[in-house]
Amino acid sequence: MKEKIYTIPINEALEANSFCPFCFLRRKLEDDAIRYTVGPAMMESDFRIITNEKGFCQKHMRELCAMSKALPLSLLLQSHLDSVIKLLDADVSAPTKSIFKKSYSKKDDFASTIDKLASSCAVCERIEHTFSRYISSFIYMLKNEKGFLDKVLARSGFCMEHFSALSLAASRELTDSQFQKLFVPIISLQKARVSKYHTYITNFANSFDYRNVGKPIDAPKNVIHETGELLNGEFIPKDKKLEDI
Ligand SMILES: [Zn+2]
Ligand SMILES: [Zn+2]
Repeated sequence: MKEKIYTIPINEALEANSFCPFCFLRRKLEDDAIRYTVGPAMMESDFRIITNEKGFCQKHMRELCAMSKALPLSLLLQSHLDSVIKLLDADVSAPTKSIFKKSYSKKDDFASTIDKLASSCAVCERIEHTFSRYISSFIYMLKNEKGFLDKVLARSGFCMEHFSALSLAASRELTDSQFQKLFVPIISLQKARVSKYHTYITNFANSFDYRNVGKPIDAPKNVIHETGELLNGEFIPKDKKLEDI
């Protein structure tokens, strides 16, 4: 099956006023997936099978609990707990010793099934699939759409997390000469962004020196938060802990 190229969302993300176009796309996917999970998905048996089996990671459980959808969520949790109980009911009896073949370990099997359950999330899985297509679409558009590289270079770059995803896709999907022509300029763009924040954070750190008291600081007001976003992607800051000041 030919994979879909997501031209419209990629262009929208490049036009939106956000710190990183892929953080923007990710946020939208997250919101849509959460709404879908406690909304239309309740009537879709394919997705219900996945939520029953996989459950949710802590991050998405937190998001789901924040929705005012107690009835659908309790039904999802009830079905998922049914699957958990089935897994806990597995036969973990000691193997019978055999001198001919290596005994099959039921305890190892049990532990790896439980471990798989703990690290699976129906919402993550739904998001990851589309998100990886967004990354591939970006590389496709870089190769095939006239003026796309200029559009990317007119922005200020990405967070490092998503720049890393783009680098992997570019190294996989571009030839050496395409990489030089189409991705090296994006590396320069990203380097300029990182250098800019390096200067900002240096200025901010220096402002604590008593010799600089009262001098203006050449850095955004929320420079630590923005540098965190540059390194790890967009996040909502937590309230400051005041006890250590
Ligand atoms: Zn990002
Ligand atoms: Zn998740």
